[in-house]
Amino acid sequence: MLHLYNTLTHKKETFRPINGKNVGFYTCGITAYYTAHIGNMRKYTMDDVIKRVLMHNGYSVEHIENVTDVGHLAGDANTTDDKMRVSAETQHKTMKQIAEAYFGMFLKESDYLNIIKPNQFLFASENIQVMFDLIKKLDDKGYLYKIGTGMYYDTSKFKNYGKLTGSTFKQLNEKLKAGATVERVDGIRNITDFAVWRFAEGTDMIWDSPWGRGFPGWHIECSAMSMKALGEHFDVHTGGVDHIAIHHSNEIAQSEAATGQKFVNYWVHHEFLVVNGQKMSKSIGNIYTVQQIIDKGYSPMALRLFYMSGHYRQILNFTFEALTNTENTIKSIYNFLGRLSEAKNKSKNDDTKEFKKKISDHKRMFFKTLDDDINTPMALAEMHAVMNDTNQRESTGKLNSSEAKFVIKTMLSFDSVLGLRFDEHIKSKKEPLDKEIKRLIEEREAARNGRDFKKADDIRNVLKDKYHIIIEDTKEGMRWHKE
Ligand SMILES: [Zn+2]
Repeated sequence: MLHLYNTLTHKKETFRPINGKNVGFYTCGITAYYTAHIGNMRKYTMDDVIKRVLMHNGYSVEHIENVTDVGHLAGDANTTDDKMRVSAETQHKTMKQIAEAYFGMFLKESDYLNIIKPNQFLFASENIQVMFDLIKKLDDKGYLYKIGTGMYYDTSKFKNYGKLTGSTFKQLNEKLKAGATVERVDGIRNITDFAVWRFAEGTDMIWDSPWGRGFPGWHIECSAMSMKALGEHFDVHTGGVDHIAIHHSNEIAQSEAATGQKFVNYWVHHEFLVVNGQKMSKSIGNIYTVQQIIDKGYSPMALRLFYMSGHYRQILNFTFEALTNTENTIKSIYNFLGRLSEAKNKSKNDDTKEFKKKISDHKRMFFKTLDDDINTPMALAEMHAVMNDTNQRESTGKLNSSEAKFVIKTMLSFDSVLGLRFDEHIKSKKEPLDKEIKRLIEEREAARNGRDFKKADDIRNVLKDKYHIIIEDTKEGMRWHKE
């Protein structure tokens, strides 16, 4: 039985999906005007682990992720500019060009980290009509009011506004008023009110709407697109802890006011990553991207393992010392797998059954701890216990090939959730893929990730004509086979 911590109820709950074995899963995705840093990527990696645990439990996961390519207001304050617009103007590009470029980078880094792609990425700018429909519903029901800068949502009209935070509407308003960071927009009724539509002139990512020319608010994007793809009531919605107070509270207020029913059953929130104990910031200069980590000589799988060494609801402290340790660990795991797959000892042991039982016990515990709110540090400890037991047996010369096979099978089952590419380190009898072919396949993947489809197609043709290798792009990623 899977248990997940639900921010909405502030406790761990047994996971019970709405539609039998089908799970609707929505992730708040990137705002495509900057390169995601290792803190952002921690969130997407741990989402991937949660999704893989759901899949391991036999669920079919419909995973939807948005891409904000318009309308992300700088900060959460209502008064500031759209970050996408500012970025486009300073770089002399259209907002679409900016979004495409950063989205390409995000996909590339997601691939490095072996994150399974969502079933769909939904771009805000391509879903304006569903936002209109939702805004109209809210307007008809009397939740909206118009001021000089846009259409605003009156949060005092929504019962239990801010329930995700555990605070009442009154407490939230008082807290915000006391804080110095929130600028008050002229004409709003409550400090928690927010824009669903912002008035603006211009041509780049600006639409005519029944309320006036402009662009959508950030919160309305996620409400409209998640419900479009997964229905008005769905299972899991994830995001960073920084989204609880405003973005997700506003999503709930919009969706539930419009439909009159519960929006999401399980709200899952990821904690921050800090670097050397400090929040990442430009002024300290401690912001790193996945690409920078790779350029420093670390493998992306070491980073993925590092992420999993912490619980997703705990702050994780990134240091290069810690990453060096994980790099060594991942190498030792790969060595272990390579060595085991070459085990030739055919001797019969009278205690093989006992040994296999010990391994199976660790396996059971591995998945049990993951089912307990995705406890990855504990699960990794069980994996290390399997390795220790096996190494010990190997050192006495007892480990035979049947036992080694059993351990490999167990490790591969762990990897269905860990996603550390164990399979690539198991030496099989099959002939190794020619170096040149391997290089071309990697180059094509990189081209695709960078959305250079022409180059990708050219490489695909070379592989087919020269090497008789057929490439297929599937939902689960790239596959190849001989012609
Ligand atoms: Zn969102």
